[in-house]
Amino acid sequence: MSCTGPTTVVITDGALEELRTILKDYSYPLCVTDEVIHTQYSTLLEKIIEVPCKWIMASEYPKNSTLSLEGIDIVIGFGGGASLDIAKLIARDTNLDWISVPTAASHDGIASEVASVSHDGYKYSMKCKGPLAVIADTSIISKAPPKLKLAGLGDIICKTSSLAEWKLAHEVKDEPFDEQVYGIVDNALTSVLKDDGFETLIRAEIDAGRAMSIFGSSRPCSGTEHAISHAMDRIDSDLHGLQVAFATPICLYYLQEAGYTEYKPEVIQEFMSNRHMPTTFDEINTNLAAFVEDIHHALKIMKKRNRYSVLEHLGVDDANLASVLRDLGY
Ligand SMILES: [Zn+2]
Repeated sequence: MSCTGPTTVVITDGALEELRTILKDYSYPLCVTDEVIHTQYSTLLEKIIEVPCKWIMASEYPKNSTLSLEGIDIVIGFGGGASLDIAKLIARDTNLDWISVPTAASHDGIASEVASVSHDGYKYSMKCKGPLAVIADTSIISKAPPKLKLAGLGDIICKTSSLAEWKLAHEVKDEPFDEQVYGIVDNALTSVLKDDGFETLIRAEIDAGRAMSIFGSSRPCSGTEHAISHAMDRIDSDLHGLQVAFATPICLYYLQEAGYTEYKPEVIQEFMSNRHMPTTFDEINTNLAAFVEDIHHALKIMKKRNRYSVLEHLGVDDANLASVLRDLGY
């Protein structure tokens, strides 16, 4: 089990070629993917790895009860978040190692130990193990729909909120804290604010995943802004990274008021609107009343997880919330 991160990380054009070297000690990989990636890249992947490979579509698991895993000695997650999550779950259930081969840079789970699992319309996290290697082929990732990259950026810039709230929760409620982990996530955040290229973004996502593994929980990377996104998932979910970014300015506003961040909400909003990420209710298909309801639900999620929210800290009421949301231009 990797607790400090993958042993091999390759982020470059043509990185897929590295799989040949990594897989030379294995004889029968299981590759978890989706139809689109399978159609586009399965021939290329098989040519590179030079061993027979068993394919499974992430959407068919675990419904595909006939799936035989006999002889499988390594799992490859080749695709977006859903494929990587299923690869993590299979690796966990079979006690095999898994290799992360993301085809989009859409969230910080590409190298994390945690799989997001849907059940009865709710998403929850399941602890698995981190990948043996991350092979990020930028020639493939750069061809993914642009919205996925925006979501990836969103899942990093929201660390302005999660990090500040983590510090607050530590100082006020004595939640566990780790200076080194804070530094890793903070570096990832500032690197992406300076340079939003694929390589920097992917490295930041891997580092955020590594930080959560070292710390043993998602707290450094996931505060009230994440809980709001999970609450939004109940009705109509958009990409995780777009939702967490959407919820970030309102959290930052209160974190600034509490004296826990230097980041102004406007700076993050400008970063978002410059890249056409959703910043208004219309753009993310919600409205003031529904969003306030999501925030109520988010605070319940935070309480249930024993995580202290800046909104609870300041005793924010609905009237204040509505007026701040309006002022911020939501
Ligand atoms: Zn996230």
